[in-house]
Amino acid sequence: MREVIIIGSGPAGFTAGIYTARAGLNPLLIASSVEIGGELMKTTEVENFPGFPEGLQGPELMAHFQAQAERFGTEVMYEDVVEVDLKGDIKIVKTGNGQAFEAKTVILATGAAYRELGLPREKELSGHGVSWCATCDGFFFREKTIAVVGGGDSAMEEANFLTRFASKVYLIHRRDTFKASKIMQDRAMANPKIEVIWNTEIAELKGATNLEAVTLRNTVDGSTKDMDLDGLFIAVGNDPRVWLVENQLELTAEKFIKVEGRSSKTTLPGVFACGDVIDPTYRQAITAAGSGCVAALDAEHYLTSH
Ligand code: NAP
Repeated sequence: MREVIIIGSGPAGFTAGIYTARAGLNPLLIASSVEIGGELMKTTEVENFPGFPEGLQGPELMAHFQAQAERFGTEVMYEDVVEVDLKGDIKIVKTGNGQAFEAKTVILATGAAYRELGLPREKELSGHGVSWCATCDGFFFREKTIAVVGGGDSAMEEANFLTRFASKVYLIHRRDTFKASKIMQDRAMANPKIEVIWNTEIAELKGATNLEAVTLRNTVDGSTKDMDLDGLFIAVGNDPRVWLVENQLELTAEKFIKVEGRSSKTTLPGVFACGDVIDPTYRQAITAAGSGCVAALDAEHYLTSH
């Protein structure tokens, strides 16, 4: 039986690993079989993580998190959690390779997944011109005409990054103002390769086997027109990953895991949650890391008092 199992390997999960390992709790961190390191693995330059004044690449930052967690004895397992039973005093966590683990406490740090536009051919064209990851796929669009959908920091960041490869990047946003922070907006607006298309959404994706064009719909007057595109990057936010636990503990109205006040305590004793899966507002690497620390301290207090 484990003292603590951590599910998730983003900044929240690894910080929970660092703290619980240093507390001598010998944590097992289940990191997923493919998407190790969470959303920062898909980011380029991280400029705002304190302690790195020159900035560093997202994957490099995650490698630091992992090395620090492992240095103190966090055991990292590259498997997917497929089922959990969190109701009893002994929590059961099952992984895709058929193993089942028992633990006194579980820390959920499962993050959030990319949101889709919900268009009919979106899944089919994924990897064939439609992408959610500029870092992963930008390279394939050298000297091409592409577009980014969204008006948040992610859309600004992706659009800027993609100008390294593409000859032209349209930034398509459904309103006439961006949601992104001012510094990120200013950077995108100052980039000569980026052209903003305001008040517009994507109505249809077109192309035989690869994306060739999109139909744009004006959100003010409803008019439509087609535009040729080699690639479309979707950056319209994330949804918390709660499917593992949604029938066992309480969620908020927005479907984040509900926690008590500023703590990480979920509605089940011995189950703690941290990072993007509880956070509809801030969702930064640094806030996720802070939240992972809170979860580790809450788990430690729970184990001491039980
Ligand atoms: P976000 O802030 O939630 O923004 C999502 C954007 O997509 C909004 O502009 C939204 O439009 C638009 N949108 C949502 N659903 C849409 C749909 N179905 N069709 C068209 N547009 C849609 O998400 P995010 O940009 O991924 O950022 C998430 C969090 O990560 C934020 O807290 C952000 O600050 C942070 N982040 C920070 C950095 C950085 O600091 N370097 C980089 C990336 C992300 P509306 O504006 O109309 O709602």
